[in-house]
This record gives sequence, structure tokens and C-alpha cells, in this order.
Amino acid sequence: MGALGSEMGDWDLRLSDRGPPLFEAVVRFIADELDPRTGEFARLGATRLERCVYSEKQLAILEGLKGKARERGLWNFFLTEPDPGEGLSNLDDAHIAAELGRSPLSSECFNCSLPDSGNMEVLVRVGTPEQKERWLTPLLEGTIRSAFAMSEPEISSSDATNLSCQAVRDGNECVINSEKYYITSAGDPRCQMLICVVQTDPDAPRHRRPSQILVPMDTPGLQILGPMHDFREDDDPRGHIHLRFTDARAPCANTLLEGGRRFEIAQMRLGPGRIHHCMRSVGVAERALALMVERGLKRVAFGQPVARLGETSRSSRRRASRSSPCASWCSGLPRRWTCSARPRPGCGPRR
Ligand SMILES: Cc1cc2nc3c(=O)[nH]c(=O)nc-3n(C[C@H](O)[C@H](O)[C@H](O)COP(=O)(O)OP(=O)(O)OC[C@H]3O[C@@H](n4cnc5c(N)ncnc54)[C@H](O)[C@@H]3O)c2cc1C
Repeated sequence: MGALGSEMGDWDLRLSDRGPPLFEAVVRFIADELDPRTGEFARLGATRLERCVYSEKQLAILEGLKGKARERGLWNFFLTEPDPGEGLSNLDDAHIAAELGRSPLSSECFNCSLPDSGNMEVLVRVGTPEQKERWLTPLLEGTIRSAFAMSEPEISSSDATNLSCQAVRDGNECVINSEKYYITSAGDPRCQMLICVVQTDPDAPRHRRPSQILVPMDTPGLQILGPMHDFREDDDPRGHIHLRFTDARAPCANTLLEGGRRFEIAQMRLGPGRIHHCMRSVGVAERALALMVERGLKRVAFGQPVARLGETSRSSRRRASRSSPCASWCSGLPRRWTCSARPRPGCGPRR
């Protein structure tokens, strides 16, 4: 076991008693309902004229699948609050998030997609009754989408104390002038609101300057400039959008908490958010590995499956141990076989 494995050796990373039924139901839904439609869904998008916009036929499939998932109670389970949400622990959710990573349709079908999930987490915890009614309710219903706008082209955005976007108070409104870029999902017509990180008080101590304010997408002065590129791709249909705010006015009542508490709010979303992100990436990596193994076993060269040829088999094993952290921690078994609450030989709690 490597350095990480020995450090993690005392941790019990299995699902709690509440987790397995939901975990199994999610796995089943992905296999029975989502995997068979994924190819068709992608093909139906091929002739779209507009980027970042699903075709009508794609939306019909998506809405049908969302309805089925919701009927089966597979909805909003990323929320750790028992109401609304399933009251799962972040650890339970981590295992389920990895399953979501295996299917490109899953997050949206279970109403667990980013950045909506982070925005809902924040609104549940700090939204006023009015903010909840206007934005949280439709987000929880899955009838609208939302975005989160922090990064700016001219500054280093990993340090939020750098942000230059000013929201200047004018009566009951905040007037915003800025550009934001890489704003995921902001080009989707279903996206109706973004949480924008702004400075409301440039004279406050550094960490009390940034605030977060809810800005409707149809605000006059808020303009979509176009998609950004990530490894030369625009990541259509999701898209990461360049936005310009020119004297865009949002009601000051749309500010989250009282102003200047952006960092406190950010930690609420970043804790679970980092777990969702990382575990979905683990899921994607596991899926890629499974596809590689499947192909390696089917394809024959020099009289044997390519999976058995020298470097292919060595590198698959290396990738397997890197992509699946639980696999390394739990005696080398793949993650999805070790996360059940049921004890399995060789993967019990290390106490
Ligand atoms: C696919 C994609 C989607 C995105 N979606 C959104 C979104 O929805 N909303 C949004 O607001 N932004 C989004 N972003 C932007 C993203 O949040 C920023 O790119 C990120 O915060 C880093 O900021 P920066 O690009 O300005 O890099 P910089 O802050 O300029 O950082 C430059 C380099 O310094 C490194 N660095 C920074 N700090 C440290 C440190 N403490 N220690 C070591 N190295 C460090 C970084 O790793 C990076 O390599 C997205 C970006 C991508 C690629």
C-alpha cells in the first residue's frame, strides 16, 4: 500500500446504513434507463444549429428520464439535509457521485448537476424566504438551471480577494460592471439565474470585500459574449461562457447573507462541492478503464487479446490503482465492490 493508503488506513470509507439502498437504486437506474439512451441522446444533438442548446428531442428524452428518476425517489440526494434531500452523509454521497461520473446523463437526470447543486446548497442554507421561493423552489423541481460567476479574465481568479467586479449601490439596486468568463451552463436557455461574486465594499478588510448576489439572466446589461474553450473544445452542450455586465442592475435584496460574507458562503459549497467533483472524476476514470479493458479483451493481435500483451496489461493495472482510491485502500478490490455497508472479506473497517 502506498503513502496515501497507509495514511488513510484507519478510516472507514464504507457507506452508512442509509446509503446502500439508494446506491443500488442509482446503479440500477443508470444501467436500465440511462446507458441504453445515451448514444441516441448524443446522436439527436448532432444536427443542432445552436451550441449550448439541447434539441427539442433531446429535451424530451431528458425530461422523461428526470420524471422517472423523480418517481423512484432518485432526486436531489446530493443535499445532506433530510428536508429537502435524503439526509445522506457526504461520504455516502461521495460513493454515489462516482457512479454519476460513469454516465454523462446521470447528474442532470437526478437533479444533481453542477453548478445547480452548489447553488441549491447555498440557497437552502442562507437564502431568504423570498430568494428561496423565487429560485430555490424551481431549482429543486428541476424546472430551471443556474450558474455561478466568479472568474474574471483580467485577474488571477483562484484568489477571490483579487476580484475586481464592483457592485455599486444605487438606491435599492446594485449596479454591476465587469466581465466574467468560464461560467459553466450560463449559455443554456434554461439557465435563469447566476450567483455572481462581486465587491460591495472595496474599503473593507480584504476577506470582507467580496459578496454574492443573485442576478437573473434576463437582466438588461448582462450579455453573453460566447463560449470559452477547454483543450480547444467548447464543451458543448454544457459550455463555459464569457459574460459582460454593463450597468446591470440587481436588487440589493438579492445579496446572500448581508454583504461581505462571500468566503463564509463559499466554504458551504466548496466542502461538498470538492467531493462531488473529485468523485465524479473517479467515476469517469473508472468508466474509461472499464471500456479499455473491454476492448483489450475483445481485440486480438499476435494470436491473443491485446489486454494480455506486455505493456497494455501493466499500464491498465497501474491506471486502475490510481483511478480508484478506495480500491487501493480496500485491498485492491474495485471501489464499487467495497463500498457496501455489508462486510466483505478483506475490506472491513481498519480499526
Ligand atoms: C471547465 C472549466 C469550468 C469552469 N467553470 C467555472 C464556473 O462555472 N464559474 C467560475 O467562476 N469559474 C469557472 N472556471 C474558472 C476556474 O474557476 C478558474 O480557472 C480557477 O479559479 C483558476 O483561476 P485562473 O484561471 O484565473 O488561474 P490563476 O488564478 O491565474 O492560477 C494560475 C495558476 O496558478 C496555480 N495556483 C493558483 N493558486 C495556487 C496555490 N495556492 N498553490 C499552487 N498553485 C496555485 C493554478 O493551479 C494555476 O495553474 C472554470 C474553468 C474551467 C477550466
